[in-house]
Amino acid sequence: MTISEVGLRDGLQSISTIMPTEAKVEWIAREYEAGVREIEVGSFVSTALLPQMADTEAVIKAALNFPGLIVAVLVPNRRGCEAAIAAGAHKISLPLSVSETHSKKNLNRGHPAMLAEISACLDLVNAQPSHQKPHFEVGLATAFGCSIEGAVSAQQVYELAQQVVDRGVPEIGLSDTTGMGNPTQLEELVTGIWDRLGNQVLSSVHLHNTRGQGLANVLKAVELGITTIDSSLGGLGGCPYAPGASGNIVTEDLVFLLESMGYHTGIDLEKLLAARHAVAALLPSESWYGFTAEAGLPTGWVPTVPTND
Ligand code: MG
Repeated sequence: MTISEVGLRDGLQSISTIMPTEAKVEWIAREYEAGVREIEVGSFVSTALLPQMADTEAVIKAALNFPGLIVAVLVPNRRGCEAAIAAGAHKISLPLSVSETHSKKNLNRGHPAMLAEISACLDLVNAQPSHQKPHFEVGLATAFGCSIEGAVSAQQVYELAQQVVDRGVPEIGLSDTTGMGNPTQLEELVTGIWDRLGNQVLSSVHLHNTRGQGLANVLKAVELGITTIDSSLGGLGGCPYAPGASGNIVTEDLVFLLESMGYHTGIDLEKLLAARHAVAALLPSESWYGFTAEAGLPTGWVPTVPTND
């Protein structure tokens, strides 16, 4: 089971505090020490819009020094993809909103323009020599519902997924951007995509805990066979559509759920909680979520030994 830490991107882009590069690298080091082996370290977006992400190239360069760490980055377009390849990122994700209204509002582009950017990114990625070709993934955002349009139908998700895969994208992800999803819906979407496009195209989900359904949705996802789950240390980031509400799934609670059920994450929960406290001290004015950190580990909890798988 792979836990993909997204706090440095999804968390930090949602708060106004600009974390210095050295502090970001310390965050990476602490989670790496706890056994985390995939971290989305930033995004190549307009630095005027998101100055929190202005040092993404430097953070990638630093993150590449941790052996065995998959360094992931988010890009909104071909230009971002170029920068991500130049910086040496292992994994590049591009968000595509199933809700076209959301896509226009979020990235100023409708579906045809986004699909053109995706093809351009794919061309760049495929032009790399095989030993340094990054992994390219398109994350289907607002797949469970849109804050502007409301309900998003499974059919809309399948149709867009089909168009993305038809363009040659090897992998898609499902994102509950607005925290509207439930386990029944998740099962329908995952099995619907697998039935139509094959099991290889979808193995990761990005879920939110905005309405308290985050871990219920995770449980359904892992039972179905999803193998990568995104989460954020301390649930950092909140939900941009509901001020004050929590957003991302809390990495610490996710590790507790999976490890206590016998799923192997390779993450030492005691060290992860220590990482949380250290990073929280670097961002003292932010809200930190999570039940496991509040309650502490249960008596007799046996820490796991990171094995990097
Ligand atoms: Mg998120």
